[in-house]
Amino acid sequence: MSKTVITCAITGAETTPQQNPALPVTPKEIAEAAKQASEAGASILHLHVRDENAHPTQDVDIFRQAIEQIRSKCDIVIEITTGGAVGMTIEQRMAPLILEPEMASLDCGTCNFGDDYIVNTLGDMRCVAGEMQRLGIRPTLECFDISHIDSSKILIEEGLIQEPFHYGLVLNVPCGLRYDEETLLFMVNRLPRNSFWTTIGIGGRISVRKIEDSMAKNGFVRVGFEDNIFFGKGELAVSNAQLVERAVRIAKDYGLTIATPSEVRQMFKLRV
Ligand code: ZN
Repeated sequence: MSKTVITCAITGAETTPQQNPALPVTPKEIAEAAKQASEAGASILHLHVRDENAHPTQDVDIFRQAIEQIRSKCDIVIEITTGGAVGMTIEQRMAPLILEPEMASLDCGTCNFGDDYIVNTLGDMRCVAGEMQRLGIRPTLECFDISHIDSSKILIEEGLIQEPFHYGLVLNVPCGLRYDEETLLFMVNRLPRNSFWTTIGIGGRISVRKIEDSMAKNGFVRVGFEDNIFFGKGELAVSNAQLVERAVRIAKDYGLTIATPSEVRQMFKLRV
């Protein structure tokens, strides 16, 4: 049977505890939510951290605490963000790479983000990709637009990213590329051959559809409070694990089995 991979993005940078009180914020809460997501079937944890006021931060010490506590509770593959949050410098965003996580996100272009914007010049991208290569960190190439896929190919041609490639296709960010199946497939068809890809779709309205569309095409999926805080229409999710459990149920409907963290380490050739 084919394997699928579920990533859980449990905290993110934008979601607030006021929007969903179950949002994990402290390293302790993050570690507990990671354990529950892992037990539910998530193989990869996409990690952001927050400061004492629950604001997004790229503080290396807080990342270190969170990673140590996650590691003490479960074996999930940890992918840290280098997207950080709106307004951070590229130096701030890439600082936690020094902790040498197995994976990290790599934004592949500039985009609007609601009323804000995220800047990723080609120079920024080379800098982040080069540092990940130096430290043996597998990037998830986050593409918010078609052009970002083409930009990622520049990094590949320059030898800054090696196979196997793992893409994160980010759709439905406010003011970004809208989600629909046709757009997703258009993106998938532009990826380098034999790439792995994970659909990252923002918002509750597409939370089930994106899973079904991805699994029908042998793609992977990301769920979690970074992308969506709802379980049903107007119904808040009670935990990140609840969203993972639903993705696992859908995977079973599609005849897929869930890759374990150690299987993901082999598939993505992660540093061990
Ligand atoms: Zn993120």
